[in-house]
Amino acid sequence: MSNRQKPGFIESLAEALHLIPNLHDEAGADSPSISEPGALTDYPPPDQWDDWVENESQSWPQRDPKHYMVVPTACFNCEAGCGLLSYIDKETMEVRKFEGNPYHPASRGRNCAKGPASINQIQDTDRILYPLRRSGERGDGKWDRVSWDEVLDEIAGRIRETLLDGRNNEIVYHVGRPGHEGYMDRVLKAWGVDGHNSHTNICSAGARFGYALWHFYDRPSPDHANARFILLISAHLEAGHYFNPHAQRIIEGMMDGAKLAVMDPRLSNTASMADYWMPTYPGSEAAVLLAMVNVILQEELYDTDFMKTWVNWQTYLEKEHPDVPRTFEQFIEAIKVVYQEYSPEFAEKESGVPAAQIVDITREIGKAGSRFSAHNWRSAGSGNLGGWAVARALHFLNVLTGSVGTEGGTSPSGWNKFKPDVFDNPPAHKFWNELHFPKEYPLAHYEMSMLLPHFLKEGRGKMSVYFTRVFNPVWTFPDGFTWIDALRDGEKVGLHAALTPTWNETAYFADYVLPMGHASERHDIISYETHSGMWIGFRQPVLREAKRRMGEPVEFTYEANPGEVWEEDEFWIELSWRIDPDGSLGIKKHFISPYRPGEKITIDEYYRYIFERVEGLPEAVAAEDLTVLDYMRKYGAFEIEKTSYEKHMKVLDDDIMDGTTVDQEANTVLKDGKPVGVMADGAPRSGFPTPSCKQEFYSQTMVDWGWPEYAIPTYIKSHVHPDELDRDKGDFPLVPTFRLPTLIHSRSGNAKWLNEISNRNPVWMHTQDAERMSIQTGALIRVTTEIGHFVDRVWVTEAMKPGVVACSHHLGRWRREQDAKGNRWSTNLVDIQEGANGQWHMKVLDGIRPYKSEDGDSSRIFWSDGGVHQNITFPVHPDPISGMHCWHQKVRIEKAHDGDAYGDVMVDTDKSFEVYKAWLQKTPPAPGPDGLRRPLWLNRPLRPVDEMYYLDR
Ligand code: SF4
Repeated sequence: MSNRQKPGFIESLAEALHLIPNLHDEAGADSPSISEPGALTDYPPPDQWDDWVENESQSWPQRDPKHYMVVPTACFNCEAGCGLLSYIDKETMEVRKFEGNPYHPASRGRNCAKGPASINQIQDTDRILYPLRRSGERGDGKWDRVSWDEVLDEIAGRIRETLLDGRNNEIVYHVGRPGHEGYMDRVLKAWGVDGHNSHTNICSAGARFGYALWHFYDRPSPDHANARFILLISAHLEAGHYFNPHAQRIIEGMMDGAKLAVMDPRLSNTASMADYWMPTYPGSEAAVLLAMVNVILQEELYDTDFMKTWVNWQTYLEKEHPDVPRTFEQFIEAIKVVYQEYSPEFAEKESGVPAAQIVDITREIGKAGSRFSAHNWRSAGSGNLGGWAVARALHFLNVLTGSVGTEGGTSPSGWNKFKPDVFDNPPAHKFWNELHFPKEYPLAHYEMSMLLPHFLKEGRGKMSVYFTRVFNPVWTFPDGFTWIDALRDGEKVGLHAALTPTWNETAYFADYVLPMGHASERHDIISYETHSGMWIGFRQPVLREAKRRMGEPVEFTYEANPGEVWEEDEFWIELSWRIDPDGSLGIKKHFISPYRPGEKITIDEYYRYIFERVEGLPEAVAAEDLTVLDYMRKYGAFEIEKTSYEKHMKVLDDDIMDGTTVDQEANTVLKDGKPVGVMADGAPRSGFPTPSCKQEFYSQTMVDWGWPEYAIPTYIKSHVHPDELDRDKGDFPLVPTFRLPTLIHSRSGNAKWLNEISNRNPVWMHTQDAERMSIQTGALIRVTTEIGHFVDRVWVTEAMKPGVVACSHHLGRWRREQDAKGNRWSTNLVDIQEGANGQWHMKVLDGIRPYKSEDGDSSRIFWSDGGVHQNITFPVHPDPISGMHCWHQKVRIEKAHDGDAYGDVMVDTDKSFEVYKAWLQKTPPAPGPDGLRRPLWLNRPLRPVDEMYYLDR
């Protein structure tokens, strides 16, 4: 099988004359096909990956052939996990560059700018190379180098003591960028702690909750490549979720005739590529979507077969219209009336999008039918009070058009995501950590992580050992000064170990800073719902793998990585053994090799066990005479299913069918009185994992938990709705959530190429607003939030919706004089002063400057702007239902005051505590029905045993 295009005449001649290497050799006959052969495909063939020859680019015009080992791994610079090929100079054992891996089924050899920039991160001359222990007070910036042995012994001793005292809820692992596919859940379950905390409630919990209400799965998996109409509520083509794999397929779909519509108050790069741009007022998206629902119903553009079988309309009629005949026709008539209030004119009033455009787009969606793909991730779902209702309204369009799980439609995430079978499954723990899942938020889709410092302040609990992993709340979360306050307090946060590949604003306040590898320096598996298939990717430490191939295997990854940079996987195994050296705590037994009884599991064995159980992989491997582990080391990815449509149609197994009856009215299969499936096309089908096994238009859960007004998809007015603003006083809604396509939240500060491209975050303001306020591009403004202000410059543009302003959160990184010199491509040098009564001031002392280092480029820095840290001026706004932090801000904009300087920040943390308490009042706390803390059927990270769901147990 060839990986190559046929060479042209000139190319053949040049190859024959050895002017260029022969790029057209046949690959090994048994190698898998590259994911997407085509005119732009040009990769070294795998049979030459052990010794690939290229001329040294730095020696030009001399020809200086260099021998490389090509080792695949996976990018870690966003959640998409695209494939990378690393090129390792065999003479120096240095990684020289990263390119795309053509064998990766999602990214298919392509990357965004952040993928190849992984090389900047590993070559960063400021990087943390050794484990460090604080020597002064927290935050003093004084560190001593220590050995991994010391680190493991000290932390393990503390954890052991905490567990022996029964203080299991005081051990917490707080993750920023996750991954690991269940690895850490397994570790925490082995320790018996309810210790998982995440960043999800400042990221995606809003949209997730909206989807989960419909069908349990909390993410959409759109099949853009085969769609006829694509609707995005975000800047998804350039910066959304899984955006490189999605972007490729959106473009493919468009090249094949699909139309694209984008809702976004900014004319993002994505909106600029669209057939329709709908610059919605922030928070009005659900109103527009429900107007589309109304048009679909009135014009009868819905899919009767799908709706009739797969929507729980019978329950809706039973509960809301008990007196009408229980027929599908009656259901349609009833909801036609309900959604009539969302007329296109009403939606225009709320959103500013013309009613005629809404109708046009709806008709296109109706025409696309089952080939309608849609996505909403952070964006509106993460910005607004009730943002979860946007995803719920969007998915309603998929349900109406019968495009759930179809070719060209939108599948539930779980259908396209591989779940590993791990070698040992510790039992669920018997704890409930109320610092993560407090009573006030019984429906919170993930942990209430942004409230942690407030909970600590209120004395709701404390932490004995706190791991932060690739997590930087001081900078990324709202209310960062409150985080600093908590992290400095040894009574509240006992031992804080920051596991991080690079310095960050949170690590400055840790007790240990533990350098964990970048993308190419650690193990991991990845699988995401990037398209209609299912795949698994293997992230591996490439220098370790190169050494193994060269016959110099190492025991631990830090022996191959730069300095003593390690990886989490091995760290947790070693730590777990030291917590429980004699096995008396019952922890050690969960870290024993499945292949060598009684011996400690190795990382190779951990992944070998998983790969041996990946469907189809052992068979694929047999053709190459490799082990499964070697196959994944060689190619870095495997396609498990080419397409994964209509999984709800799976016929129920006989053992499930045993003892079942059929509810003729609801058309469901019942076992012990509860639905376990749905009758469809004459057979019992598995359906969806909801209480009704159907798509839940009517949510009994919302009714039972105190929100009957949201029993069906509705529009919720945002906290930044125009009713909340005083325009005459200069109020604006601020959209602070948009990503820049070339930056990563907290980890691109050490990537010089990326900071060269993007290094400032002005406030976007429409020309009309700027004229009205006599503000020009570059003018300094003061942006006042509920708890403080920041001073930024303005960018006056037509690409912003009038009356709305926006500012990217990707910039404004900082370090203080006493902090380690890290991320100097991006960090402003700042001074922070803490005044009386919770008043904090930050001033920029210096911007970005050229500096001398082993990297000659550091003396060529030409930019001086590091941007402004806006998030730290925001209070927490927890949505009372989903628990999502509602990012959008009502701000007042004025010209800068006398004495204001670019980058100034002022925050009153006493006020932020008051705002926290005010939002806390918005929610009816648990218990719900039967004394439950939260519904049993909804997912929960690190799920405890069911009895812990009951408040009185
Ligand atoms: S989209 Fe870009 S940053 Fe994200 S994994 Fe792919 S290459 Fe890396």
